[in-house]
Amino acid sequence: MPLLELAGLHAGYGQRRVLHDIDLSVEAGEIVAILGANGAGKTTTLRAISGTIVRSGRVMFLGASLLGCGAADAARLGIAHVPEGRGTMGQLTVAENLQLGAYVRRDKVVVAGDLERVFSYFPILRERHKQYAGTLSGGEQQMLAIGRSLMSKPKCLMLDEPSLGIAPLLVKTIFEKIVEINKELGLTILLVEQNANLALEVSHYGYVLETGKIILEDTSAALRQNEEVRAAYLGG
Ligand code: ATP
Repeated sequence: MPLLELAGLHAGYGQRRVLHDIDLSVEAGEIVAILGANGAGKTTTLRAISGTIVRSGRVMFLGASLLGCGAADAARLGIAHVPEGRGTMGQLTVAENLQLGAYVRRDKVVVAGDLERVFSYFPILRERHKQYAGTLSGGEQQMLAIGRSLMSKPKCLMLDEPSLGIAPLLVKTIFEKIVEINKELGLTILLVEQNANLALEVSHYGYVLETGKIILEDTSAALRQNEEVRAAYLGG
């Protein structure tokens, strides 16, 4: 049974249908990438999973339907959503943002251990722990957003465009950490990314979304060799 499964998913905004009949599954322990051009519906897919927009069809997580769940329920069940633009609290410090990630947890000793682990993935966050999040660079804020979501001890991490607006060197670091986190913690990751080269390098499986429909899916290794994908998304 997949950890997360969408079947015949439709979703949109008000009267506007954006996603049409999406079938997608994510096996536990995998990194799965959703690729697609601007406006294809990648962000909308993550919103439909975490329950911030109205959807229909099947949305199953750990064998149970998420359809009746709002975003807070999904978070409680173990889905951490790092939105595009990161969603950190700029007026709080790095340390406060990380504590916020763990606010529903009662296991304080384990939380302290997890904080150490986040600092070991992203040492800059330890150095900057007293700094206001709003004053961090874009790359540091992305690290903080990932670190904060790890503090909730999620079962599935959904990352929306982690490379967006970040200097290339930091993008490389962030993607290396994403792979490390997946391997070391066995954490399942659903990755939305416009940079298809990067996404297919780190993921196990991928889906290609075009105007709200899945047009192709395969292992990431196969997608990298696929002529259509190469021409449209990998620069030939
Ligand atoms: P990008 O990489 O540009 O973020 P995307 O693949 O993530 O693209 P979405 O953000 O999911 O695409 O957008 C899909 C469609 O839904 C677009 O046509 C967009 O204009 C529309 N859309 C997105 N958010 C809203 C909203 N809040 N209200 C109405 N329409 C929206």
